[in-house]
Amino acid sequence: MPIQVLPEHVIAKIAAGEVVERPASVIKELVENALDAGARTINVETEGGGRRLMRVADDGSGIPAAEVELALTRHATSKLQSAEDLERIHTLGFRGEALASIAAVSRLTLTTRSRDEQAGITVRVHGGELVSSSATGAPAGTVVTVENLFYNVPARLKFLKKESTERGHIEDIVRRYAMAYPAVRFSLRQDGRERFRAGGTGELGDVLVEVMELDDFRQMLAVQPQTARPDLPPIEVSGYISEPTLNHSNRSKITLFVNGRYIKDSRLTYAVTQAYQGLLPNGRFPVAVLLVTLPPAEVDVNVHPTKAEVRFSRPDAVFSAVQRAVRAAITGQRPAEGASPPVPFGLDRDAIWADHPTPQPRRALPDAEQPAFDFPVPQPPAIGAADADAGAPRRRTLPMLRVVGQVGASYIVAEGPAGLYLIDQHAAHTRVLYEGLMADYAAGSVEQQPLEGVTVELSRRGAELVEKHLAYLAALSLVLEPFGGLTYVIRAVPEMLAAVEPAEAVRLLAGDLEASPPPDADALILQVGARLSELAAHKAGRTLSHDEMQALVRALEFCAEPRSAPGGGPTLIHMTSEELKKEFGR
Ligand code: ADP
Ligand code: MG
Repeated sequence: MPIQVLPEHVIAKIAAGEVVERPASVIKELVENALDAGARTINVETEGGGRRLMRVADDGSGIPAAEVELALTRHATSKLQSAEDLERIHTLGFRGEALASIAAVSRLTLTTRSRDEQAGITVRVHGGELVSSSATGAPAGTVVTVENLFYNVPARLKFLKKESTERGHIEDIVRRYAMAYPAVRFSLRQDGRERFRAGGTGELGDVLVEVMELDDFRQMLAVQPQTARPDLPPIEVSGYISEPTLNHSNRSKITLFVNGRYIKDSRLTYAVTQAYQGLLPNGRFPVAVLLVTLPPAEVDVNVHPTKAEVRFSRPDAVFSAVQRAVRAAITGQRPAEGASPPVPFGLDRDAIWADHPTPQPRRALPDAEQPAFDFPVPQPPAIGAADADAGAPRRRTLPMLRVVGQVGASYIVAEGPAGLYLIDQHAAHTRVLYEGLMADYAAGSVEQQPLEGVTVELSRRGAELVEKHLAYLAALSLVLEPFGGLTYVIRAVPEMLAAVEPAEAVRLLAGDLEASPPPDADALILQVGARLSELAAHKAGRTLSHDEMQALVRALEFCAEPRSAPGGGPTLIHMTSEELKKEFGR
């Protein structure tokens, strides 16, 4: 045969062979495109292990209608312009090959609308041939549907594994990207069943709770970003690694990301295992999820068509950064959750002040015309004192919980490493708001919602008590002004009460004061704070969205006293796995 240049469709098929090895490779490329487009939500769907159908929908930038056909052409990309750009790649894609390659070996439908355009467009390509293109209405973002993968490449079709194997590979890919991009919401449905979901909270720990067994996650240690050495390129290493008690017979549970890209790198994997030297028996390996971030110019990602390998310009520096970070996490033994004792809270301040020999109130009372109590300045409550210390991160007091659902529009069902948690949404929200309010109060920064023309009339005794404590109420941003007689003008309420009827709130407060006059300023602040929080909290009977519940539970996990409402009474009931087993007679 004479030498000839191959026709374009043959070239495309050969190239496709490099990029699209199996269904999961398609998912990988499409998810990368969604991430490059700035998506906050990525929904993945597959049928028949990806052979019949794969669909990736995102809410990213979309593609301008005029560029869609180009996007499906080989070597067409919006991510590179010159060869120099290759030196500083900050996107996951850059080769401009994926869409064309996928389209060459499947029936591909792409619907997209650019955020800047009114109408969307749908383009169909079968085996690399454009079949149709038409304007459509579509939300901003992109949906790519890939059907009958390899229908025109019988050789490849033969090599595909069982459906369940391909499904597993797809799930691996989606989970990995969820770990690398915890701020993006991911969902994966396979054959109509939801297989995975990540809420996009921005916390890697939240994703890991979805990815790992909870009992395993309990044995993970957070890797804190290390302070960079000035003589080295800035390399940040963060993530989670297992305590030596959690280990594995091979290295497959060591997951590495470099600048948001999942990579395989035997040297960095070795750096991780090395850090465990002497801690694990021979032939056992840790679990790790590590995110390495460094300037794009320090990494060459253009090594392999699937971009799964990278080259570092200073491999030794990266190696030692990883090793140091892992080692610090192991020796620091900072558990991922649950182990730190709760910060004591309440009026028993002595124990706290013992650790802080010179208590300095962080705020002075606003000018009070008549001091309400004999001792002039209320001390900031303990929670504020503990919190304000050196901006230390707030301590987790409950394990990381995963919301399962809501019962009776009043209780949140959550799962934790040690069993089932039933959370009273009203009590829990009251606790969360209360601690926030007390911290703000201690910092002298309770947000105010100004009001106009709102008055309230109180009982004689109620008015007396309110009058006496005006300055303290004002410190909580509840600003009242005598209007004459028993009437008061409400000038402002704390921001969190914005949705509450203000006169009613003040009447309730005055009633509280009457019923149990606080013995001192501290008690007054705590009592009023508890009432305000209770008024602002989600009511029982209110349906909450999954996100609302997860946010509430997450906040509760960091409360100093997560288990009780400020007025007493439990916020949650915990049934341990053992108790559950016992209940079921197992
Ligand atoms: P690459 O990602 O390497 O640029 P692709 O073939 O994967 O190559 O995509 C080609 C181009 O199509 C991208 O550069 C991008 O401009 C556009 N594109 C692909 N997928 C999306 C998407 N989900 N959202 C927005 N633009 C996209
Ligand atoms: Mg791409």
